[in-house]
Amino acid sequence: MTTVTRLPACRVLIGPGARHDIPAEAALLGGRALLVATRSAGAAADELAGALGDRLVARFDGPVAHTPVEVTARAMELVRARAPDLLVAIGGGSAIGLAKAISARTGLPQIAAPTTYAGSEVTGVLGETENGTKKTRRDPALAPGTVVYDAELTVGMPPGLTRTSALNALAHAVEALWAPDATALTDALAVESFALFLTHLPAAIAHGADLGARQPLQQAGWLAGLCLAQTTMGLHHQLAHALGGTFDLPHAELHAMLLPHVMAFNLPAAPAAADRLTRAVGPDPVAAVRSLAQGYAGPRTLAELGVPRAGLPAVAERVAANPYPNPRSFDADELLGLLEQAWS
Ligand code: NAD
Repeated sequence: MTTVTRLPACRVLIGPGARHDIPAEAALLGGRALLVATRSAGAAADELAGALGDRLVARFDGPVAHTPVEVTARAMELVRARAPDLLVAIGGGSAIGLAKAISARTGLPQIAAPTTYAGSEVTGVLGETENGTKKTRRDPALAPGTVVYDAELTVGMPPGLTRTSALNALAHAVEALWAPDATALTDALAVESFALFLTHLPAAIAHGADLGARQPLQQAGWLAGLCLAQTTMGLHHQLAHALGGTFDLPHAELHAMLLPHVMAFNLPAAPAAADRLTRAVGPDPVAAVRSLAQGYAGPRTLAELGVPRAGLPAVAERVAANPYPNPRSFDADELLGLLEQAWS
């Protein structure tokens, strides 16, 4: 069987302080920029707005998780009024998702400067929510053409977000290892990403401003995003989409909580993935991932996230009826067992 791999063309700037090069990059793309910023990235966005000077024609500070179309419509009013040449997104996956949604409607080029490890900046994946339903499309043309990895933008992540965002990214790497369209390239990216997260996450949680930990973690998030861009995600992402969509749950927290459960469920049926992870991090990769979740002060079970136990069977039925490609086949009862474990 022929594997088709998707590698969005992308110019990547890496290094502490790389954000200061954004105005020069904007000039290369025509100059007049619409800045899309997550509120938490406000200070960095203010600094960037100042540096862009006259090149900044508009600013939108209201991106929301899962890219609701109503929010995109509001941002599009600004686009029509101010006619920018390009989009600059600074923030987490929500800001980057909104810039992708605007680009999908206008063809405007994008510069993305991520402040979390979500990885959206290197994928051509766009998930948009309309009337409570999230629809995802994949097109390499949606991926930002310029990505700026400045680890200084990540030092403000509090310990909880640092942990959940890293586990969210780790899930992209893990699912790439057992994906039907994995290649030697994605295997290498996934294993290196996994090892970097396990090595550096504890230091970044303990000392948020430690660039010696933040820099490799950001690179790990990049590699994990490239895994997401090139492979088909399996059961973990399907459960995250089904639960997140049904119960309106926070994205990174949900991924962080589910990952060890899905790994324990799938790895016995994915010996090559298990072997790679074992060689990278030792005999028990599931325990290694679980240990990363230890000490987390936020919700650690589906119950604590507010999912009603009575809602689990319907999710299990729905996922089992139409499964994403996954190394282990399952029926609704087996899946319910997994969900019950994550619940309690
Ligand atoms: P987010 O952008 O919603 O950010 C989560 C929270 O963290 C927000 O409150 C935000 O303000 C705050 N935050 C972000 N950076 C911060 C920083 N440096 N310091 C302090 N606080 C900060 O969430 P996310 O987890 O980055 O991304 C999740 C969103 O991205 C979801 O909508 C998800 O669907 C999407 N996503 C898309 C892809 C893709 O390829 N399309 C990949 C991953 C995630």
